Amino acid sequence: MSFLFGPVNSRRLGRSLGVDLIPHKTCTFDCLYCEVGATTHLTTERRAYQVEDIIRELTESLPVLEGALDAVTLAGSGEPTLNLGMGEIIAAVKTLTSVPVAVLTNGSLLYQPEVRRGLQRADLVLPSLDTVKEDTFRRLNRPHPNLTLEGHLFGLFALRREFLGQFWLEIMVLKGHNDSEAELALLKEVIARLAPDRVQLNTAVRPVAEKSAQPLSPEELEAVAVFLGGRVEVIASFDRPAQPGVGLGDQEFLAILARRPMTVRHLAQALGLPPQQVEVRLGRLRDRGLIVGDRYQNEVFYRCHPSASGQ
Ligand code: SF4
Repeated sequence: MSFLFGPVNSRRLGRSLGVDLIPHKTCTFDCLYCEVGATTHLTTERRAYQVEDIIRELTESLPVLEGALDAVTLAGSGEPTLNLGMGEIIAAVKTLTSVPVAVLTNGSLLYQPEVRRGLQRADLVLPSLDTVKEDTFRRLNRPHPNLTLEGHLFGLFALRREFLGQFWLEIMVLKGHNDSEAELALLKEVIARLAPDRVQLNTAVRPVAEKSAQPLSPEELEAVAVFLGGRVEVIASFDRPAQPGVGLGDQEFLAILARRPMTVRHLAQALGLPPQQVEVRLGRLRDRGLIVGDRYQNEVFYRCHPSASGQ
């Protein structure tokens, strides 16, 4: 199995090579808005998931890809900090390349000092915080019973104090869940104390785990950004022009679609390929039963067929 996906043109990180540290949908949360689907293994137990295999694949691939990358991003289809080998993997990447290392995390395990220590050599950490109300936290993020909002906030503040790299906070805003003025006013107060380098707003622009997770319109999301003030930006759509793609085979396409559903437009932008070329490729994969397409918000999103992704 490949642990690497891309490189893709990421909205935030430029041309990014994704590294999936965790088995499919092994997570501490089961968010309503998860693009990867429902969490099948809800856990807080950290384990060493295939650390040597991941490092071996990075060692083989990074020297070839280095010139084409803006970032190496630890992320994927679950919570990367659940991998006990995360710090070792970050250290290995740092010996292989000077490309910055970013970690996308839901932030739930940052209350543990060893998790924060493991992140120290990363260049950029992008944790999430969708609400500062316990009931909304339980409803929206559906965390493992071991987790509390208090612990989540503690971990974010501790990492902010200790971590020397960039700290970008991501907030997913959903209609009717965490978009009320009362919710946002509480969040604003916590953000002011946390003082992240950036705050990035997202909404459910792709197919999500639960139908109740509905997106805000672009205007509504902009209004939330204005309300929160400061260094807040909307990241809910691609904002980078396509760049020339590197040659990706069917397996690389499938590796991307196994991690998140994407439209022809998204794939064309992410891979820097003409939409017609992407359509031909998707048609071939669909005919072979390797991907499926579902309509969401008036667009067709393609995802890996469960039997092809080993889910
Ligand atoms: S959105 Fe992230 S944190 Fe939430 S369930 Fe999905 S993988 Fe886990």
